[in-house]
Amino acid sequence: MIQVSNLKKSFGNLEVLKDVSFEVNKNDVVAVIGPSGSGKSTMLRSLVYLEQVSGGSIRIQDEYLVKEGVYGDSQKIKQITGKMGMVFQHFNLFPHLTVKENLEIAPRVVKGESTEAISQRSTELLEKVGLADKANVYPAKLSGGQKQRVAIARALMMNPDILLFDEPTSALDPELTGEVLQVIKQLAQEHMTMMVVTHEMGFAREVANQIMFMDNGEFVEAGTPEQLFTNAQFERTRTFLQRAL
Ligand code: ATP
Ligand code: MG
Repeated sequence: MIQVSNLKKSFGNLEVLKDVSFEVNKNDVVAVIGPSGSGKSTMLRSLVYLEQVSGGSIRIQDEYLVKEGVYGDSQKIKQITGKMGMVFQHFNLFPHLTVKENLEIAPRVVKGESTEAISQRSTELLEKVGLADKANVYPAKLSGGQKQRVAIARALMMNPDILLFDEPTSALDPELTGEVLQVIKQLAQEHMTMMVVTHEMGFAREVANQIMFMDNGEFVEAGTPEQLFTNAQFERTRTFLQRAL
């Protein structure tokens, strides 16, 4: 579903992604782990064109977002990135819109879909994330965990084939991380294809079927939680996991 090969990205002289290659299959839940500064966010952001890479290829459902460093036209880029939803650490909700309006704005602007259909879907998705009673409040009135659940529902409004999360619980108080992880866990059970950058090793172990370890701009190794936690191939993976657990 996602095929990344030989991805390279530099910020000035700093090489942030060095020849990163990996694959994500349909229905995979991939936890991306690694030290701070290892390039996890940059890699994830590259998949949705929030970062432009300097070399390598990204293929999403057999279509190239970038092929050997060359991007297609803006129409093509939009079409491919439109298959993916992204949830950020800091929610990025629109403060001047209600919860329901936050969900509905993108589909209203982007698609020729009826107002009723959009409204019905937003109601359903708010129920799904346990926030039906918050439809008409503004984000400022919500807890961090509630804001993040709104952000997930908003991403789902576009019916993405793939959901990407960049540290969805890192800005939350520990007692609020559970409710967000629960929603992601539920999506995993419904076989949503997901990549989740996370420092929550317990969650990675429990929910992901693949764990991918990055270090210093490199893809080091990936495997099932069992493989990685008990039998990692590389010393630097073992060292990281020992510190993180
Ligand atoms: P963390 O766990 O702290 O979120 P990360 O693995 O997500 O780290 P990235 O955010 O991808 O790491 O950053 C990788 C490297 O790229 C870091 O050295 C960072 O300072 C650098 N970097 C990221 N974004 C930019 C930017 N816009 N301009 C310059 N350097 C950047
Ligand atoms: Mg990051």
